Amino acid sequence: KQTAFEKSIDSASQIMLQKAEDEGIETAWDRYEQQLPQCSFGQLGICCRNCNMGPCRIDPFGEGTEKGICGATADIIVARNLLRMIAAGAAAHSDHARDAVLTFKKMSEGKAGSYRIKDEAKLYSLASEYGISAEEKSREEVAVELASALLSEFGKQEGPILCTKRAPESRLKLWSELGIEPRGIDREIVECMHRTHIGVDNDATHILLHGLRTSLSDGWGGSMIATEIQDVLFGTPEPKKSTVNLGVLSHDKVNVIVHGHEPILSEMIVEAAEDPELLELAEEKGATGINVAGICCTGNETLMRHGTPIAGTFLQQELAVITGAVEAMVVDVQCIMPSLGNLTGCYHTKFISTSPKADFPGTARMEFHEEEAYATAKEIVKAAVENFPNRNLKKVSIPEEKQECMVGFSAEAILKALGGSPAPLIEAIAGGAIKGIGAVVGCNNVKIQHNYGHVNLVKELIKNNVLVVTTGCNAIACAEAGLLVPEAAALAGDGLKGVCEALGIPPVLHMGSCVDISRILVLASAVANSLGVDISDLPAAGAAPEWMSEKAVSIGAYVVSSGVFTVLGTIPPVLGSQAVTALLTKGLDGVIGASFAVEPDPFKAADLMLEHIEGKRKALGLK
Ligand code: SF4
Repeated sequence: KQTAFEKSIDSASQIMLQKAEDEGIETAWDRYEQQLPQCSFGQLGICCRNCNMGPCRIDPFGEGTEKGICGATADIIVARNLLRMIAAGAAAHSDHARDAVLTFKKMSEGKAGSYRIKDEAKLYSLASEYGISAEEKSREEVAVELASALLSEFGKQEGPILCTKRAPESRLKLWSELGIEPRGIDREIVECMHRTHIGVDNDATHILLHGLRTSLSDGWGGSMIATEIQDVLFGTPEPKKSTVNLGVLSHDKVNVIVHGHEPILSEMIVEAAEDPELLELAEEKGATGINVAGICCTGNETLMRHGTPIAGTFLQQELAVITGAVEAMVVDVQCIMPSLGNLTGCYHTKFISTSPKADFPGTARMEFHEEEAYATAKEIVKAAVENFPNRNLKKVSIPEEKQECMVGFSAEAILKALGGSPAPLIEAIAGGAIKGIGAVVGCNNVKIQHNYGHVNLVKELIKNNVLVVTTGCNAIACAEAGLLVPEAAALAGDGLKGVCEALGIPPVLHMGSCVDISRILVLASAVANSLGVDISDLPAAGAAPEWMSEKAVSIGAYVVSSGVFTVLGTIPPVLGSQAVTALLTKGLDGVIGASFAVEPDPFKAADLMLEHIEGKRKALGLK
């Protein structure tokens, strides 16, 4: 059995893990231990239940069954399973985008009065990108036209998806030559399900090429649309300061946690927490105010735009409840553990599910619809406030740990900090002060000590003068480790340190939530276009040191398809097929100009990324 110290490198989490053990509370780590040893067929990706003649499984040692009942080999089964993971991940990001656009549409039609356009410049620039003229039209008319243009990207039958045009010309040409230019967001996902039905696509390479196409419909489609329209609605993030970790929870205020992935509701919760009526009620109930804190990417969204503090990463969602100080855990969609139902029952915490798509055992359901957005948000915050007197002080223990961070580095904010163009960044890279760019993203996974992979990989990169851009739980982990403050430049190599000190920025730039990896694509394109090269020529590498979700599989696939070498910290279920493994780790290089590596040790992963960056520098004639 692992100790609290072995489960996490974060001291606030260790304290809560110890508290959980003392109180006999079960966490994800305990359930992981109960699952061991995990099914080897599942780990290798060689079990199939795509039809009811099965389930079938392949003997990995070549001594037993080599084919499923239909004749599918390990290569076919592994590739089909991977394609279904990509489809699920792309669907999650893209359905999030669809909801954001539908909210925008309702707002534009005057049916969602709680929302406003916060970034008018982005509205007009997006409209012009979509060929919508603003002449003699009201702002709302332009918005309505933009909403239908964006919605048509989902159901489009013939591509390409328009945002792909933001990629360098060379990438577009390559995608087109390979036949993987995404046509319509929903179309690619539906085709994944069709192709993986028994008796359809049965060639591993052919199947995986469609995986790349589907992932591109996520990265340059769904995710990018989500980011852009959320910026229009809620504002494009700009640098600001905040605090992270479980210590942001308050002893004397009502604690409301917003957890999940969409900002549509949490934006309203942040506003409702400042409502004088609710503040007065909080005072009546004995609290000194209302404290909203985030977890996962809903948290990242409000952090980036409002500086709302973050209580933790994916693996800290249970730990936040275990503090005994959370009045309401308010969730929308994605990465929300169903275990929260039982867990919140052990404390006074109200577990409130809000999405029409996502319910959980043990929730107080308060379904959210844009038409009554603010009223519902107020009701939710009120329920939290009324729950404050139920806090059992004997069960409360909030770790002291909280860390300052500087966040809000959208692509626009980074370009602004550079004086309007990527030229100073390119000069710093060309001159060698910055060796390259590392994009480090992704989840937590109980298979890796919490935050160990994230923090050590990023520290190694900055020590070697690689500027790191980050999103998702990696960004939160880095913030908890104190890497998102300008003072962290002291941990960077001399070159990067000099650049950070001159610009007053941290060596690790928080670019947002997981859908905001699209911001990294936009930034990479801007740098590649300025240099007149392809993204695959840049001294840049990606990593997901503690990934776990199907969304991360889609992300990895679109980052590689965009030309960026990517190191995964946990092993995807593909090792049952040598052909698929070889294609992902080597073969793709010759096809798409980038490939995957798998390396659980963050120090070795950093070496792989540094070696790749050095190779790209050499190819560009840089020292
Ligand atoms: Fe077995 Fe083929 Fe059916 Fe999969 S699709 S369960 S391998 S018969």
